[in-house]
Amino acid sequence: MRGRLDDVIRLSSAAASLVAERPVFDAHADSLQRALDLGHDLAVAGPGHLDLERGAAGGLGALVFVSWVDPKFHESGPGGALARTRDLLGEFHALVRRRPDRVQFAGNGRALAEAREKRVVAGIPGIEGGHSIEESLDHLEWFFERGVRVMTLVWNNHLSWIRSCQPGAGSTVPEGLSDFGRLVVRTMNELGMVVDLSHAGERSFYDTLDATAKPVIASHSGCKALHGHQRNLTDDQLRALAQNGGVVGIVFCTAFLDAEAQKHDGATRERADFKAIGGANETDVFLRQSDFMQRETPPLAFERVMQHVYHAIDVAGIDHVGLGSDYDGIQRTPQGLEHAGCYGRIAEHMLARGFAPDAVRKVLGGNMERVFSVVTGLGSAAHDAPWTPLDTSKSQGGVA
Ligand SMILES: [Zn+2]
Repeated sequence: MRGRLDDVIRLSSAAASLVAERPVFDAHADSLQRALDLGHDLAVAGPGHLDLERGAAGGLGALVFVSWVDPKFHESGPGGALARTRDLLGEFHALVRRRPDRVQFAGNGRALAEAREKRVVAGIPGIEGGHSIEESLDHLEWFFERGVRVMTLVWNNHLSWIRSCQPGAGSTVPEGLSDFGRLVVRTMNELGMVVDLSHAGERSFYDTLDATAKPVIASHSGCKALHGHQRNLTDDQLRALAQNGGVVGIVFCTAFLDAEAQKHDGATRERADFKAIGGANETDVFLRQSDFMQRETPPLAFERVMQHVYHAIDVAGIDHVGLGSDYDGIQRTPQGLEHAGCYGRIAEHMLARGFAPDAVRKVLGGNMERVFSVVTGLGSAAHDAPWTPLDTSKSQGGVA
């Protein structure tokens, strides 16, 4: 399988000492899915892209552990998406309970700072796709109380209250955000949950910026000026995000970063007999496919990622750009960013280009940390934000 910790990366001494501060805040990774479906221990190195061991070597200080729920769970009927989201979230709870030496729940700015001092990863649960709340603010609050601090409003499936960036929305889907959608955004503002606009349609993006009273993020996107993929942001969107005080997390997905790479990805996928590849379940198949994609597709140069980083900095400014790898949610990575031990290469490239260490820290994680601290609040030593641990020792009943 893919990289293990012995793929040690060599950095300049300036980059290495910066990475030793654990400055990286990765705003989006899907690793909980392999923990739930394949029993992978995310505390130790490989297989897959991201775990706490390689993350520590790569400078990871904070991570959004995303619960992404296949829309089929939503389509299966009421409660389906809720249950799957709860089970994925349960993997996060189990991990922080089992490995407090490597990760602790960070529900507010104070907890983020505390995790940094203790040199453990600040773990922030997230939900990718508003179908997980099944059109109920009570469910949104239920997830908040169990630690969720960020929600990507919509994934690639359109919802009754928000349009995704994908084509093919039917007549029942609003152009942008519906009245209920605005209520979701305002409720998230009040609770202290970060609004994430990656995957949102353009109208939904601007409607949300109108509705929100707090900074938002686009956790894992690229720049449309460099590749006109629907998942990327236009320069106007980048400027609007900066105006809002928000941050774009540059994604490592090859198909979003580069038109040629997208063609290569498509060709490799067509060539592969994924049925023959097989696997124990869909997540296993996904990982086997990913290994094939990584091996068989012409590599995408590391520099291409940095072009997106620099373009976003040029347009939005140094205070509004961060990282959202989408590790374990993408099927192949650019060269040099094969796993969570590799973030330091970004630091090295920026330093070599003449960015001051403080500017590099902002992009690696400082900007994301600022938004999360502003939105979730600073908390207090005596009484931290709500946190109801899920009982992960037995299967759960219904949600809320
Ligand atoms: Zn995504």
